Amino acid sequence: MAYSNPFWKGIYNLLIGLGVTIRYLFSHAITLQYPTERWPMPERSRGQVVLLSDKETGKLNCTACTLCAKACPTAAISMDRYKGEDKKWKLSKFDVDFTICCYCGFCEEACNFDAIKLAPKYEYSSYDKESLFYDMHKLQEVGRDVDYTPKRPKKKAAPTPAVDAEKTEGDVKTDSEQPPTQPESPNDKPTKPEGDK
Ligand code: SF4
Ligand code: SF4
Repeated sequence: MAYSNPFWKGIYNLLIGLGVTIRYLFSHAITLQYPTERWPMPERSRGQVVLLSDKETGKLNCTACTLCAKACPTAAISMDRYKGEDKKWKLSKFDVDFTICCYCGFCEEACNFDAIKLAPKYEYSSYDKESLFYDMHKLQEVGRDVDYTPKRPKKKAAPTPAVDAEKTEGDVKTDSEQPPTQPESPNDKPTKPEGDK
């Protein structure tokens, strides 16, 4: 047998390898020239934790309720809060330690205020552990360009008294629109408003 000869066996395997190379030479490339090219991340991919801000005011959405810190299984979130003059909780510290964050997403699920999200960002590796410790200002800056759909629509502003008055005037019913008067005793019959035949 010719293939039992190591020389011919080597030539045979070489030709198989060249055949595979030639086949892929003319097919579509599946590699990207990173970092000039990047794959789009899936919509629900869990990357870097960021803090979200109101698109109009630029202020953090966080209400300092501490639910995310309580839900975090690795204690990667540490926060402090204080009562403001308006009797609402305010953040004084909100840190995320990315050296121990496991990207579980529990913090995002626990938050009811669209304030924290795992954004599709992943390019923040570092040789310096200290730089993986993000404070709330850094988390807010990273999250500024993150798009999100509010879980709960914002409450509409209460109507002004003028609008109320207009509405009340428009709501006044004419006699013909008034419902029939209910009888006071079982023997009485219901009476219709005047003008109704
Ligand atoms: S993704 Fe998980 S581990 Fe990371 S901060 Fe949120 S809850 Fe903690
Ligand atoms: S990020 Fe959300 S869950 Fe965490 S403290 Fe702020 S409002 Fe509460």
